[in-house]
Amino acid sequence: MSTIAYVGLGSNLKAPARQLGQAVMALSRLPQTSLQAQSPFYASRPVGPQDQPDFVNGAVKLSTSLSPHQLLDHLQAIELAQGRERLRHWGPRTLDLDVLLFGTEVISDERLTVPHAELENRDFALQPLLDLNPELQLPDGRRIVELRTQCPDNQLRKLAPMVGSD
Ligand code: ATP
Ligand code: CA
Ligand code: CA
Repeated sequence: MSTIAYVGLGSNLKAPARQLGQAVMALSRLPQTSLQAQSPFYASRPVGPQDQPDFVNGAVKLSTSLSPHQLLDHLQAIELAQGRERLRHWGPRTLDLDVLLFGTEVISDERLTVPHAELENRDFALQPLLDLNPELQLPDGRRIVELRTQCPDNQLRKLAPMVGSD
């Protein structure tokens, strides 16, 4: 059985838009998974420590028969393959891949919180989701479009589509 999952992508080091493009390529090659759509990319001010570069964020829509935890394993492998370093919480990173939504599943264990715990507070995650599906809702029925109007402003700027580099 396939589930529609939404994965958020973020980077603020080493040519962020190129990191995201490379990650989308890697996601398109995941087993038991097909890439359905890719959102535009957005630049935003960082959440947390301000002494770091702006982030570039986006999201993809996947159809997958992987379990949520198998998907997380693959996301973490892609992060590592692209040289992810975990220097400090909410600090700069070359690539961050988060499971934003996994069908209508609600998951809360030591490895996974789905929907993503901070989703409703992050315009840079909500806006790409809206671009992918304006009708999207959380498992509890709340509409992403409503959450987007209520969340803090990180000065999102839509980036021009990438042509090979950033
Ligand atoms: P945030 O969760 O606020 O976006 P972060 O992405 O910087 O912070 P990471 O250091 O990338 O946090 O991840 C820490 C842990 O979060 C991971 O090891 C993973 O087990 C856990 N985690 C919980 N829920 C999710 C999720 N929905 N997607 C990805 N990782 C998750
Ligand atoms: Ca994150
Ligand atoms: Ca993460």
